[in-house]
Amino acid sequence: MKNNLGILGGGQLGMFICQAAKKYNVKTTVFSNSEKFSAKKFCDNYLIGSFSNKVLLDKFINSSDFFTIETENIPLRILKLIEKKKKIFPSSNIVEITQNRLKEKKFLNSINGIKTARYKKISNFNDLESSYKLFGKNGILKSCEMGYDGKGQYRINDKNIHNFKNNELHGYILEEVLNFKKEISVIVCCSKKNTIFYPPVENIHKNAILRQTIHPARISNEIKNKAVMLATKIASELKLQGILAIEMFLMKNNELLINELAPRPHNSGHWSLDFCKYNQFESLIFSIFKKKLMNPEPINKCKMINVIGKDYEKKKIFSRKYKFYDYYKDEIKELRKMGHYTVKS
Ligand code: ADP
Ligand code: MG
Repeated sequence: MKNNLGILGGGQLGMFICQAAKKYNVKTTVFSNSEKFSAKKFCDNYLIGSFSNKVLLDKFINSSDFFTIETENIPLRILKLIEKKKKIFPSSNIVEITQNRLKEKKFLNSINGIKTARYKKISNFNDLESSYKLFGKNGILKSCEMGYDGKGQYRINDKNIHNFKNNELHGYILEEVLNFKKEISVIVCCSKKNTIFYPPVENIHKNAILRQTIHPARISNEIKNKAVMLATKIASELKLQGILAIEMFLMKNNELLINELAPRPHNSGHWSLDFCKYNQFESLIFSIFKKKLMNPEPINKCKMINVIGKDYEKKKIFSRKYKFYDYYKDEIKELRKMGHYTVKS
């Protein structure tokens, strides 16, 4: 029992967590909402169904002593039910903040020295109109919950704003559009014993989806140090035990604004699978099983490239040329992350 881990969600992040767990003799049970899922071949046990199915949830809770998530989009009451009996990393308090953009923004701006883009809570069309004007008629409407890879986000302009007049606009925020220089991210991992971080990487997005991560970020040492300082400050405010990714915008004046937090391994950390002595999934396992966290020890400069939608049809070419990771998705969907590959640079 002591070496068992329950994972909520069985996508590619769950799959990589299972692979890391196996390396350290940890047995995994994945709870998946869908019949076909990436982690299926890699976990020791699985349960398929709704998280709110009481029988399944009880089985899941009984399967392990320790739990983690591969997505923050898990109903909070499910996490609280697990936490009543067992330990979950990161804790439900952290997931509560990070699964809701409004709570997350409020939390971040409450920390001394931490700033985000300006934002306004949106509950109706009037809010949208006035906030849009406030931000110079340039805003991004984002759903507070359940968004990922740009889903639930709308760039608002003079032509489309009126389309939202009859929409139910409860549970949104409007963010000012930032004219940033670069996007970077830092991954921090904390155990009871120590804290480690993966060095800042540079992220290139297209249509709000991550396409490429470049390690290391092409920024000055001063900005790197600042990014790590901000990331560790956020982790310490959250009393993190587990792993957390922090997305940031580097502004033209070299100011760093925090974009968002992810309380789990992150796509921008996949380069660590090939170019670190200890990858982000191993660090998560160490943090849960109370091992001392090891310095990731990055090996080389590299790039990680996501394979999205129909690009997956070229997977044979990618496998021949690069270290290609297949996510074993049930079908190709436009804008779906289907796999990734890494290249030394
Ligand atoms: P998701 O949860 O879908 O990753 P994000 O808030 O990170 O949502 O937005 C996805 C991407 O959209 C960002 O990585 C960035 O490229 C772009 N974006 C988000 N917010 C802003 C903003 N305020 N200004 C400019 N670009 C933004
Ligand atoms: Mg993001």
